[in-house]
Amino acid sequence: MTLLKRLGGRAAVTAGITEEFLRLSAVPHPSRHEEAVSSLMLDRLREMGLAPVRDPWYNVRAEVPASPGLEDRPLLALQGHLDMVCAAAPGFDPLRDSVRARVSGGALRSDGRSSLGADNMLGNAAVIWLLGRPLQHGPLRLLFTAAEEVGLEGAARMDPAWLDGAAALLNTDGFYLGRAVVGAAGGRRETYRRPLRTRPAPAGEPVQLTLSGGIGGHSGDDIHRGRANAAVLMGRLLEALRTALPAFSLAALEAGQTHNAIPGAAAAQVLLPPGGGASLDALAARFRAELTEEFSRTDPGLVLRWSPAPAPEQVWDTPCRDGTIDLLRDLFCGVYAMRTDFPGVVGASANLGRVSAAEGTVQVCAFLRCARAGDEAVLAARHDGAAAAAGFTLAGCTGYPGWPGPADNPLVRCMDRVFRRETGRALDITAVHVGLEPSIFAAQRPALPMVVSGPDILDAHALSERAPLAGLPDYALLLAGTMEAYASGT
Ligand SMILES: [Zn+2]
Repeated sequence: MTLLKRLGGRAAVTAGITEEFLRLSAVPHPSRHEEAVSSLMLDRLREMGLAPVRDPWYNVRAEVPASPGLEDRPLLALQGHLDMVCAAAPGFDPLRDSVRARVSGGALRSDGRSSLGADNMLGNAAVIWLLGRPLQHGPLRLLFTAAEEVGLEGAARMDPAWLDGAAALLNTDGFYLGRAVVGAAGGRRETYRRPLRTRPAPAGEPVQLTLSGGIGGHSGDDIHRGRANAAVLMGRLLEALRTALPAFSLAALEAGQTHNAIPGAAAAQVLLPPGGGASLDALAARFRAELTEEFSRTDPGLVLRWSPAPAPEQVWDTPCRDGTIDLLRDLFCGVYAMRTDFPGVVGASANLGRVSAAEGTVQVCAFLRCARAGDEAVLAARHDGAAAAAGFTLAGCTGYPGWPGPADNPLVRCMDRVFRRETGRALDITAVHVGLEPSIFAAQRPALPMVVSGPDILDAHALSERAPLAGLPDYALLLAGTMEAYASGT
């Protein structure tokens, strides 16, 4: 009997996993609020006859005994995260309101008031549902982590002993059916600060400079797309202004939201020396032409505007102005290296994510992503050196290590064979330029073969997040087939 028949056919697989998903999503589960969802998972695992344990950070672990006769086979860990990024429409409280999911138009989606959380509960649901089917598997370990979406916190806090004895780890936190990820980037979240010193504004012509309309985007997924970084460009414009009109003053500067997003907009208020308006007009017009030439294909909505502004009372002192302009110029930003093992995949990058000034402090936030520790060391040294030269200090630095690979491992070979057999298609084996929980595990168990592969999920983290159901049976076949093939060695 084929595997699909043993699972009950495509419709039964889809219905079963969907029902399991609704059940596991029945309580609010935004990141860092996993007590309820982990309790729900514990109850579900006990109901299946397992004896799960939970750590103080709400990570959950359970051992699944092997099918009779397969007890001596290598242990396969199946891992996913319990938390979700809960995007919320006005009136929806991610801490109190549960996601209301439904099937419509061939996809699982929320009611539009929140994100769906298929990232990653749909993968978890597939695993749980499959364990109730008649499969012939070896010993399995289920690992469900908390706070993945906020810097892989749960995985980082999980006792590394929870990986003891595992021969391989299959993580279900992927977004594309048929894609198997065997490498990911590390992350270094940098926050640089310097005191903001001001002086009374001299006489002059106040002007507001605005860059807007840039696409922005994710500092991992989108860093190679040639989009404008408005923080970097505003720095470049201020540098040109400093060269043309050294006596200009800076009164305000703001760009971006957070470390790991590309800023699509930036604003600065400057005070030109009397009579400096004509120089600014010429310079800004030239800069605008440069932007058009540089970004007409990759970020065509970007516009630079300048207009008279209200007179500021205070302006930044000159060392503060110059240090900030220097730092925006000297921080590396963009793609630093491509991977050599996976053509087309970025290996190392940096993003200047935010510049702000408030409460007596100028703050500059950047995010490094590197698969290899060596690249990260080079970029970090460069950033720290630029910051020190500009009068900034590293006020905060958190992160997680990279997962360099290797490009091939026994688990991904096994999964590829299963996927070809069950669907007739090869797996797309690749690496990604974002952080994944195996990044944490790879640092603890460098030799552990790991693969990340999930069902199709679109618009994760957004109100429109949805999971097309047509491919869900193929995902279940990949998981179930791998559980069986890994035990039988086929
Ligand atoms: Zn995820």
